[in-house]
Amino acid sequence: MTSAQDGAPLGSPLTGDAAGPAVRAQNGTPLLEVRDLTVHHGQLRALDHVSLRVFPGEVYAIIGANGAGKSTLLRTISGLHRATEGSVVFDGRDLTGVRPERRATQGIVMVPEGRRLFGSLTVEENLKVGATYARPGQWTIERVYELFGWMRDRRRQPTAQLSGGEQQAVAIGRALVANPRVLLFDELSLGLAPVVVQRIYAMLPQILATGLTVLLVEQDVSQALRVASHIQCLLEGRTTLEGLPADVTPEQVEAAYFGLASAPAGEQGSEA
Ligand code: ATP
Repeated sequence: MTSAQDGAPLGSPLTGDAAGPAVRAQNGTPLLEVRDLTVHHGQLRALDHVSLRVFPGEVYAIIGANGAGKSTLLRTISGLHRATEGSVVFDGRDLTGVRPERRATQGIVMVPEGRRLFGSLTVEENLKVGATYARPGQWTIERVYELFGWMRDRRRQPTAQLSGGEQQAVAIGRALVANPRVLLFDELSLGLAPVVVQRIYAMLPQILATGLTVLLVEQDVSQALRVASHIQCLLEGRTTLEGLPADVTPEQVEAAYFGLASAPAGEQGSEA
């Protein structure tokens, strides 16, 4: 949730072009590919033949209303849910059936919805947790302190005492110190004031500049359209729209999001 401290600086945002949408490099091999994925929670079909391809260096955004299946998709990519059908391929390797820790060591790391920090542990202790399965790489706790300038001074403070925006920054730092190749962001903006959300998203260019790829889930469609190189809309577990942000109209996004009679999109959905 937001608090008075949400107004505090979260980092050093880049300005100008660097803060705009990421560019999609579609040539070459996708870093992450989801093929025809179906996932059930008991009897409920939460994902129904969903496919996507995320290329290196891009920001791929999944949008959709409550219950669309967005978190289920990210959690299945992380290995936390089992696929009923379909596969998750990462860097050319089929990861279906591979345990979550192994996926983390191969470079798939998630910032979960609601942060899931250890509230009684300090900022630094939470960051150390993130480093448990770390790959070698340039992201260290020191580097995270450089990204979020305020964090070093607060490193001995329990994270429960931080504002929602500061906790989100710690959750991002915890993911970064694992040195991911692809970062999965689940609802970064949830429960945060718009100004805090903007500051958090302003970190993206600096994160991408270190060679990372981002797959994010976002209910705030405007925010997703601002930062994404590619968007995909889910509704009741199915893809209803997919394309470059510049190629989809607000009417198409609205129709896809709410399941209204839809106008044809730049690229139609990939449901089977
Ligand atoms: P939200 O933004 O509300 O988190 P979402 O798009 O992320 O929505 P999911 O959380 O993936 O959607 O949920 C998809 C569907 O699966 C919903 O109907 C939800 O109630 C159901 N669901 C999700 N997790 C479970 C679970 N662990 N057990 C049973 N049903 C679940």
